[in-house]
Amino acid sequence: MIVYKAGETSKAICERCKSLVTTTFAYRDVPFDDGTGLVKDILCAVCDRCDHVVAVPPQSTPAIRRARNAADVPLEVMLFAPEMELLDLAIWRIDPDAGQRLRKPLLANYIRRFVDDPATIASLQATAGMQSAGRLRADKTPKRRLSVKIAPKTDHAINQLMAASGLKKTDLIRAIIHQIDKDLVRPDRPAGLEKLREIAWVVAA
Ligand SMILES: [Zn+2]
Repeated sequence: MIVYKAGETSKAICERCKSLVTTTFAYRDVPFDDGTGLVKDILCAVCDRCDHVVAVPPQSTPAIRRARNAADVPLEVMLFAPEMELLDLAIWRIDPDAGQRLRKPLLANYIRRFVDDPATIASLQATAGMQSAGRLRADKTPKRRLSVKIAPKTDHAINQLMAASGLKKTDLIRAIIHQIDKDLVRPDRPAGLEKLREIAWVVAA
């Protein structure tokens, strides 16, 4: 990505002049990308001939992008107490200070991994099958409510996994926690812990 500075020149087609013109980068007010309202002082390519804003370089894109107020979506599932304990134990191994704050990012990280690698969905299904076989025995186990707000993209990923695996949301989250248990709680030296610690450092900042 080329980063421009004010005063630098380039060439572009000017719509107003209907020709290839030289442009100079300068700060101007431009509309948000959805056309509503103006963003002040954005670096743009300005036509040297007619002073019209000809282009907005990629570096100015974050500034003109109107934040979509896509509201977070609740994720609520009832888990057995030992499942919640495993989730929090995994978090404790990643960062003893992170606490419940890491529940959502850790789950989201695993959800992303399963979505990215559809070959792993069979293992989720197998785990969920084992869990439902053991449910009768677990019926007297206390339950805990997992309640977090997730981004729409995470919600979408969960729906994708539910569709691909045929699992209900609760069974899917349970199977994911089982994978977290296998990866992070059981091993003496869990692989991938460093990567998750980096995530925890950012999340719990
Ligand atoms: Zn022009």
